[in-house]
Amino acid sequence: GAKVKGAGSVGFYRGERAPASDEALDLARDLRGAIARRELHLMFQPKIDAGSAQITGAEALLRWTHPERGIVPPSVFIPISEQFGLIDEIGDWVIEEACRQAHLWRRQGVRMRIAVNLSARQLLQPNLPQRIRGILRRYRIHPSLLTCEITESLAVESTEAYRLALINLQKSGMHISIDDFGTGYSNLSYLRELPARELKIDRSFVTDLGESEHAHSIVDAVIRMSHALGKRVVAEGVENQRQMEILVALGCDELQGYFFAKPMSSELLLLWATSPPDGSLSFHPTLYGET
Ligand code: C2E
Ligand code: MG
Ligand code: MG
Ligand code: MG
Repeated sequence: GAKVKGAGSVGFYRGERAPASDEALDLARDLRGAIARRELHLMFQPKIDAGSAQITGAEALLRWTHPERGIVPPSVFIPISEQFGLIDEIGDWVIEEACRQAHLWRRQGVRMRIAVNLSARQLLQPNLPQRIRGILRRYRIHPSLLTCEITESLAVESTEAYRLALINLQKSGMHISIDDFGTGYSNLSYLRELPARELKIDRSFVTDLGESEHAHSIVDAVIRMSHALGKRVVAEGVENQRQMEILVALGCDELQGYFFAKPMSSELLLLWATSPPDGSLSFHPTLYGET
């Protein structure tokens, strides 16, 4: 979500510092036409089944290579693109590009789910489900293979319009995932109403696992609650073995994080997904993906 730091980002931007407004203006100007100049690309981070340790799918994460500033993380330019009305075009490009890659992977014999992040503004586009379905059809991808990740703060702030948008996406066959879960203020009854298949526990709770009893209790409660509501649980930001073991013991369904793999290019992801089953490649995240 917007609260997430630009992890692993290189170049001009580090951390979460919001650009000053004149800087935002500069970036907005540069962002216009960035697609046409091919400055945007997707990185893919695997999601791992907690039971089998197999890859289930990959989340597309957007990167912008600015000609002078280098890699700009999404935590910096997504808010700007929303503010300056560029998110619709960029968001469409992300979905299209993610589907194109999934199509290519499948042609190489690798079939997996894909997840894309959607921002608030995008959700309110009246014809979003139809447009996504059009893209999916073009690449012959079944809607149920696409997960739309929406941050909890958005899902909660949300008025009826957002809830309807989520329902329409779900009716079109796509899966909804509530991203950065735990950072918003969902109450139980609201959660029950949400048309989501999956909750993604925010990295901040995962980070504290094994060090804070508090975090342990929260994650335990979230997993039980989600399962009681029939939802799957994914943990993001798993960075070490201890966190992984705790999450598996608590019944978490899927895991994602640097411990398994960093976001990586689509070519590398294909290699990773087809790497030997002994895990000799898969447990060396430093060899793979962003540094
Ligand atoms: P998110 O969807 O919660 O994605 C997870 C973020 O945590 C990613 O940062 C990822 O690189 C990072 N991460 C994954 N595993 C680990 C780990 O083990 N440790 C640490 N420290 N970090 C980890 P990234 O790629 O910078 O993206 C930040 C946020 O920007 C995303 O948070 C998402 O909300 C947003 N975003 C990214 N791509 C898009 C996009 O195409 N569209 C929209 N609307 N938002 C996007
Ligand atoms: Mg996400
Ligand atoms: Mg997340
Ligand atoms: Mg997050």
